[in-house]
Amino acid sequence: MSERYARQVLFYGIGKEGQKTLMEKTVVLIGCGALGCTSANLLVRSGIKCLKIIDRDYIEESNLQRQSLFDEEDIKQNLPKAVAAQKKLQKTNSLIRVESFVADLNPSNIETLLQDAHLIVDGTDNFETRFLINDYCVKNSTPWIYGACIGSTGLTMNIIPSKTPCFRCMLEHVPPFGTTGTCDTEGIIAPIASLIASIQAAEALKILTNKYDDVSKGLLKIDLWRNEIKRMFAEDIIDIADCLACRQHHYEFLKKDVCSMTTTLCGRNAIQLLPLNGSKLDLTKLATRLEKVGKISYNSFLIRLKIDKYELAVFPDGRSIISGTNDVATAKGLYAKYIGM
Ligand SMILES: [Zn+2]
Repeated sequence: MSERYARQVLFYGIGKEGQKTLMEKTVVLIGCGALGCTSANLLVRSGIKCLKIIDRDYIEESNLQRQSLFDEEDIKQNLPKAVAAQKKLQKTNSLIRVESFVADLNPSNIETLLQDAHLIVDGTDNFETRFLINDYCVKNSTPWIYGACIGSTGLTMNIIPSKTPCFRCMLEHVPPFGTTGTCDTEGIIAPIASLIASIQAAEALKILTNKYDDVSKGLLKIDLWRNEIKRMFAEDIIDIADCLACRQHHYEFLKKDVCSMTTTLCGRNAIQLLPLNGSKLDLTKLATRLEKVGKISYNSFLIRLKIDKYELAVFPDGRSIISGTNDVATAKGLYAKYIGM
């Protein structure tokens, strides 16, 4: 075994056996923002077999305050978050496999993207994706680790199907976190994201090495500014008799025939549009066409086009993020005008 993991092997909770087990595991990280950057870094260094990073966005200047895998050069190169993270992490540990997927996780691609995951780590910023992850994980008995932060407050909980309450069980008793604001309206300090992601990574080590007795059970809430730590134990999150996901096995988020065409991006003043036909765009051709209408920059991952106060980012799968508006109609109008429906 590599000297690289010597200190971790020395630790009583891991040992040689634990490390061997860890090295056979594939983790999928969904969302590579503030939480995802930190948990990905810790997991890659721990020596899992493979980390798959799924993220739909590209890097912006306001991300650098807390998203620890990115730097100014990544912004200059217009890199999507998943690609920039993959490049950094693969250099950090060449013994493992790091893969990137610039994609929006939705019912039509979730089976393919998550099929070989032993564990899923939540780095997303929205409830729709979390309910989708929960449905998939309960259905396939895959553990996942919820994480969320805003301001100076963070939440995390392990969801281990058939062993703990699921995400939907919990939300029957806890008001949806974050529904009253976003990172854009409330702000966020980096230490809370770093802390919650570190807890997620520690829990991941326990789950991946099958140390279920040591796994934290229940919801943990920490506020770093008010110095509060609260815990809601799994026993107190009463399994409601009619939980649609884990009791009735009704997976409504997986069953949506077609994913929502539009998504308002949390804290971004932006709308994501997803073409229904999943077409492949020739970015070079499109760039030539768009050069005539506005200021563009592009690489093999995306094109960015500035028109007045708006900016369109277009990906090869036809997906687009339109910044500068929260109005779906305006976003659709811009997409139809410049990209074509
Ligand atoms: Zn449930």
